[in-house]
Amino acid sequence: MSARCDILLTNATVLTLDERFTMYEGGAVAITGDAIAAVGPEALDYEAAERIDCRGRIVMPGLINAHTHAPMSLLRGLADDLRLDVWLMGYMMPVEREFVTPDFVRLGTKLSCAEMIRSGVTCFADMYYFEEAVAEATAAAGMRALCGQTVLRFPAPDAPSYEDALARARDFIARWRGHALIVPAPAPHAPYTCTPEILRACAELAAEFDVPLHTHLSETLVEVEESRRVNGMPVVPWVRKQGLFGAKVLAAHCVHVDEGEIRALKNFGAGVAHNPTSNLKLGAGVAPVAKMLELGVDVGIGTDGAASNNDLDMFEETRLAALLAKGIGGDPTAVPARVALAMATRLGARALHLDHITGSLEPGKRADLIVVDTSQLHDVPNFHRDPNGVYAQIVYTAKSTDVVDVMCNGRWLMRDRALLTLDERELREAAQEQAARIDAFLGSREVSVLQKLVAVGGAVEQESFEVQVKARVPSAAQVLKVIEGDELTVIRASRYHQFDTYWSFYDPEQGRLRYREDEFLDDAGRVTGARARLTLTGGTQEERFGHVILFRSRYLAPAAHSARFYREYFRPAAEHVVEKERRRWLVAYRGVEFYVHLDRLVEPRTDGYFVEVKSRTWSRRDARDKAAVIAELFALFGARPDDTISDGYVDLARR
Ligand SMILES: [Zn+2]
Repeated sequence: MSARCDILLTNATVLTLDERFTMYEGGAVAITGDAIAAVGPEALDYEAAERIDCRGRIVMPGLINAHTHAPMSLLRGLADDLRLDVWLMGYMMPVEREFVTPDFVRLGTKLSCAEMIRSGVTCFADMYYFEEAVAEATAAAGMRALCGQTVLRFPAPDAPSYEDALARARDFIARWRGHALIVPAPAPHAPYTCTPEILRACAELAAEFDVPLHTHLSETLVEVEESRRVNGMPVVPWVRKQGLFGAKVLAAHCVHVDEGEIRALKNFGAGVAHNPTSNLKLGAGVAPVAKMLELGVDVGIGTDGAASNNDLDMFEETRLAALLAKGIGGDPTAVPARVALAMATRLGARALHLDHITGSLEPGKRADLIVVDTSQLHDVPNFHRDPNGVYAQIVYTAKSTDVVDVMCNGRWLMRDRALLTLDERELREAAQEQAARIDAFLGSREVSVLQKLVAVGGAVEQESFEVQVKARVPSAAQVLKVIEGDELTVIRASRYHQFDTYWSFYDPEQGRLRYREDEFLDDAGRVTGARARLTLTGGTQEERFGHVILFRSRYLAPAAHSARFYREYFRPAAEHVVEKERRRWLVAYRGVEFYVHLDRLVEPRTDGYFVEVKSRTWSRRDARDKAAVIAELFALFGARPDDTISDGYVDLARR
């Protein structure tokens, strides 16, 4: 009496994608429960409850999307053609802070699962916030996933601090470990968004529960250069020093790694997720995949999140991986189709540290498989002379829409191109409603420079008033004489080299944004420190007391990003640069404190010196009183009212 199985697929071209790339023409696959019972001729010995004729079709392992952020499908097309930092810090993170909740995560995950199942994906590696909601939605959709709970040093939508994020990761892992479909993991976001303690704690957490660890490594050249500058070494040796490789690591990207780093990844058994579209779209570069494969690293293929791709199509991604390796290596034999398909299946499973359960069609592994129709117009004709031809057909010719059936863990998720576990219409409607809310939020933010500033600037100090006057003086000598004399008391003295970038906007009501980089100088003029600040100046002067002006509405924020970041984020109408050497004194004169500045302009190159006197104020009356004292002090410095500049140095720059 022959053995029994639940489902028997027959008459298929079976690609097992096992180590030896075994394939069967007119082959069969027997499935019992959640597992593959037999593949090839032995499968035909099974008596099946259900037989499915797969004539003219390919049966192969389900594809493995080795790196994604499933809920981000809801942010697809939100912001494109931007640099990584502007895209991430300017758009993704502010929107995520505002919108990401467990419901958002659940909806986005379902949308992604629907899209991935349609394109033949049965397993993916994820990293996001509220990862428990990703796990729930994925398990309900019947897909397999490595779910990474994000940990980073900034406040996140699901954790006000990294201690909270770590506690959340621990709790998530403890509850989901051993699940039939979900493998939980800690996901320290990236070395540049984590501290050494976070990396170490995550590695220890993963080791303690014997689960993988999911992270981003060496995505951009900037990241690697910063690591060299700050840590004195590139990214891979640095994270090694923090104990990261004590865990089973899945590292996304690894675009900028040298041969030594690739060998280290191999030696520590780390898997790599290659994300060709995302790396191209964000201009990060192309990972040295051929070299990694040559040195024996397990390289899978990932789509990354839909916000940076913008789809989750693994057929497209696999083809691109094969083509890019040839293009950048100048070698058409690099990453042949068979290897590319192995990356999308067995090697991907190895990269996720899940190759004992999925990634190839072998008895004992879970029944994660897809059926591909090769009779569509773009697929014909089919040749049979070269046995490798079928791999080329899948990688270079087939489209994700050729996938007709998808099974994961022995359960059908799609039959005849109809999804069985998700409602597409409902998902489409809910996603459009969510998009309308995000559009409205970003639209309201775009209304003012101040709101855009608050969205990325963190703490902002509002509404300060100050009285000030500024004038050209014939020489520095008179000013220094007064400073050194006994008419006033110097409380503090300092020197700076200041680089100001002024941005103005089409609507003058928005005011003017100044990005200032200060270099602190010692008495000998050597740089002892630096800081960067943003100031938004109101468009109008509040009031004038003779030549002394009362200014209002200056919003101050520490500048956490580069001038280039803000330029690309705010897209100003015009830019003007002022560079100056400044001596600054805090003085007391007639019982009132003032700042006195003695400036020499370097850019725009201007002869002579300028003196500026200013003081913070809190009422109109106080302003008037101070203005009177300022006028007196001003006369002492030898400044003549006719030489005052009412609108600052930027007007000199503009001329
Ligand atoms: Zn990513």
